[in-house]
Amino acid sequence: MIKKIDKLGRVVLPKGFRNMLGIQIGDPLNVDVQGDRITISPARKRCVFCGSTRVVASHRDKEVCADCLESLKRSASE
Ligand SMILES: [Zn+2]
Repeated sequence: MIKKIDKLGRVVLPKGFRNMLGIQIGDPLNVDVQGDRITISPARKRCVFCGSTRVVASHRDKEVCADCLESLKRSASE
């Protein structure tokens, strides 16, 4: 697909692409340059310990997945 950039530097992400990735209006996106490519990906919350995107809890702006949360509980009770 070829899209044109507008005079303010903007490109519209096709609705079908946004739907495929579950991107909604106002969602944060990671925008990076990799060689001669610009990549745009959803900035999903990630577990601070293992990087999983299946975050189930937040504490002081840090996200934790279920596995790491269980592991933390176990180590706290030892
Ligand atoms: Zn984790």
